[in-house]
Amino acid sequence: MFIGHYAVAFGAKRFAPQVSLGALFLACQLADLIWPNLVLAGIERVAIEPGATAMTPLSFVHYPYSHSLVALLVWGALFAVSYRLLTRSSLAAAVTIGAVVVSHWVLDVLTHRPDMPVLPNDSVRLGLSLWNYPALAIPIEITLFGAGVWLYARATTPADRIGRIGLWALVGFLLVVFAANLLGPPPPSVAALAWSAQAMWLLVAVGYWIDRHRKPAPD
Ligand SMILES: [Zn+2]
Repeated sequence: MFIGHYAVAFGAKRFAPQVSLGALFLACQLADLIWPNLVLAGIERVAIEPGATAMTPLSFVHYPYSHSLVALLVWGALFAVSYRLLTRSSLAAAVTIGAVVVSHWVLDVLTHRPDMPVLPNDSVRLGLSLWNYPALAIPIEITLFGAGVWLYARATTPADRIGRIGLWALVGFLLVVFAANLLGPPPPSVAALAWSAQAMWLLVAVGYWIDRHRKPAPD
């Protein structure tokens, strides 16, 4: 799943208005931001196998530290506690952030083959394989994304032109990347895949930037 994760971040703003969209982007994609570093370090493994599923050529061989349920519960708790300590946020905001981190696992279980570990080893792996059913997977992901963006757009109001145009430019950009992932060629190598995944850090920065140009909507 790709834009479905961002849907959760956008939608979470409705429940934690004081948390920046950037922090929510970091939370929703924490698993996929940790993952390329572990792949590059040789700790986690992925293979490029065109046809692995109808929608992605990636075969996730071993990724217990970035993508198991137990690991994401730990990452979510660590992120929530550090966020609360660093920003003196409300408990509700910290809990929302932690839940957004764990939501990554739930959404990935929907789309992945049964390769999503529950424990930080490979003993139990789950996945509903929606990636083999594009006619279901694509509308589900786009609907989720639309709902999340709608919640964010209603929970906030632009403070200036950047807040107005920037949000829709970001939404358009995410949709283009989603389409490019579906239609583009497989990545040339695992290293290229991992390095391009690091570009998602930029989206975290863009999330902070746009959120600074929007303010909570009046009730
Ligand atoms: Zn993931």
